[in-house]
Amino acid sequence: MQKIYFYNTRTRKKEEFRPIEQGKVGIYSCGPTVYAYAHIGNMRAYVFADSLRRMFELIGYDVKHVMNITDVGHLVSDADDGEDKMEVGKKLEGLDAWGLAEKYTKAFFKHAEKLHIKKPHVVCKATDHIKEQIEMVKKLEDADYTYIIDDGVYFDTSKFAEYGKMAKLDIEGLQLGARIDSAGKKNKTDFALWKFSPKDTKRDMEWDSPWGRGFPGWHIECSAMSSKYLGEQFDIHTGGIDHIPVHHTNEIAQSECASGKEPFVNYWLHCEFLSLDKDTKMSKSKGDVLTIDSLEEKGYSPLAYRYLLLTSHYRNPIKFSFDSLKMAKKTLRKLQKHILSIKKNAKDIVALSDIAIKHKENFLNAICDDLNTAKALAELHAVIADKDITDSEKYELIKYFDLALGFDFVNMQENKDIDIPAEILDLVAMRDEARQNKNWEESDRLRDKIIGLGYELKDTANGAEVRLKDGNI
Ligand code: AMP
Ligand code: ZN
Repeated sequence: MQKIYFYNTRTRKKEEFRPIEQGKVGIYSCGPTVYAYAHIGNMRAYVFADSLRRMFELIGYDVKHVMNITDVGHLVSDADDGEDKMEVGKKLEGLDAWGLAEKYTKAFFKHAEKLHIKKPHVVCKATDHIKEQIEMVKKLEDADYTYIIDDGVYFDTSKFAEYGKMAKLDIEGLQLGARIDSAGKKNKTDFALWKFSPKDTKRDMEWDSPWGRGFPGWHIECSAMSSKYLGEQFDIHTGGIDHIPVHHTNEIAQSECASGKEPFVNYWLHCEFLSLDKDTKMSKSKGDVLTIDSLEEKGYSPLAYRYLLLTSHYRNPIKFSFDSLKMAKKTLRKLQKHILSIKKNAKDIVALSDIAIKHKENFLNAICDDLNTAKALAELHAVIADKDITDSEKYELIKYFDLALGFDFVNMQENKDIDIPAEILDLVAMRDEARQNKNWEESDRLRDKIIGLGYELKDTANGAEVRLKDGNI
C-alpha cells in the first residue's frame, strides 16, 4: 500500500502513518460551535479534514470520520470563565439555545456542502451525549482525578504527570504567574468537567447529574464521543492549532486518565490559521467575520475558496485577501475550461502510458506526503499541459486526482459550474436595480454590455440569471 507521512503534533516529527487496524483509519475532527455562522477560517479546518479523508479513500482505506457539533458548554473563555457561547448568542438573536444550535448547524452543513466537504460518517451533538459525558466524569471521579468547587466539578491536572506534554506547556511557569480564575480552582490549568447551572437564572440547556443540575464542560464532549465512536484509542485527531494548548491538552488528560491507556490518539494533525491581515485572528465572537455566504455575495464561488485553500499547505498560515481569492477564481476557471475541452475529446482507455503512470505516482506521493495539496494541484496542471499524453489519458488522471481534490470536475457543466466573474455579477446587479427603478434605458445599456462581454441573460422572478454564451468556453 502507498506510504503516507504526517507531521504529528504529538511527537513534533514527520512520521510514517501506521494504522491501528490494517487498511482502516479512524479520524475525529473537532466540529463547529454552533452559536454563530462559521467563518471562512473555521471552514479551512473542515476543508483540511475533508482532504485528509479523501486522501485515505483515494488509496483504498476504509475510513470512519467522526465530527462533533458543540451545541453546549463552550464558554466564552477557554479558562472556564464567562458565559456559555450558546447563551450569549441566543440573547442577540431572540431564539432559545436549541433554536440557535439548529439554525447554525444547518447553516454549517449548507456551507460545507458548497465547499464539497463530504459529510462525516458520524456527526454527533454534545447535547445528544450527556449520559456518556456524565459516565466519563464518574470514571474520573472514581479514579480520584476530580474535585468539586462552587461552580462545578473540576479535573485536577496536577494528578496527571503527562499533562501538557503535547503542547509543551511550561506548567511550573504557568503556576508561578497564576491568576486562578474560578474561585477554588487548585491549579491554573485545572478545567471544568461539569458546570453547575447558575442559581439565579434558568438555562435552556441543563441536565441532572450526580453532582447537581448543570451542563458538561466543553472538553469532555470530545473525549466521550470520540471513544464511543472510535474506541478509547484511535488513529487521527484533527483541529486548528488554537486547540493545542487547552482543548486538545485537556482531551488527552481526561481520555488517558479515564481509560488508563496511552496514547489516546496516535497522530494529532493541526491546521494553521487563516487570518484577515497580519495579526488578526478571525473571531466569531467579535462579529468581524467573513462567511461562505459573504464570499458568494461578492461573486466568489465556494469552490474558488476551496481552490485557494488547497494551494497552501495546511500547516502554513494563510493571510486572506480578495486579491488572492480573485487569482484562485481565475485559475480554477481556466482549469475548468481546459478540463471541459479535454473531456470532449476523451475516450475510454484500457491502460495508461508510462508517462501518465508517472504523473499518477507524483500526485500520490505529493498528497500522501503530509497532505501536500499544493504540490498535488501543481501535478494536475502538469497533466493538463503535458503534450506527450492523450486527452483520454489526461481525463483518466483528472478523474482520479479529483477524488482527492474534490472539485467534481466530472459532473461540471458548461455554463453552470464555471464561475461568473465578479465584474459581470456587479453589472447584473446594477441592471436588476435599473429594472426595479423602471430605468429601461440604463437596463438595456447594461444588458448590451453584459452580452458584449460574452454572457447571456435570462430574466426570472428572482432577478436575472447569467451564464456564459454557448460555445464561449
Ligand atoms: P469553533 O467553531 O470555534 O469551535 O472552531 C471550529 C474549528 O475552526 C476548530 O478546529 C478551530 O481550531 C478552527 N479555527 C478557528 N479559527 C480558525 C482560523 N482563523 N483559521 C483556521 N482554523 C480556525
Ligand atoms: Zn474537540
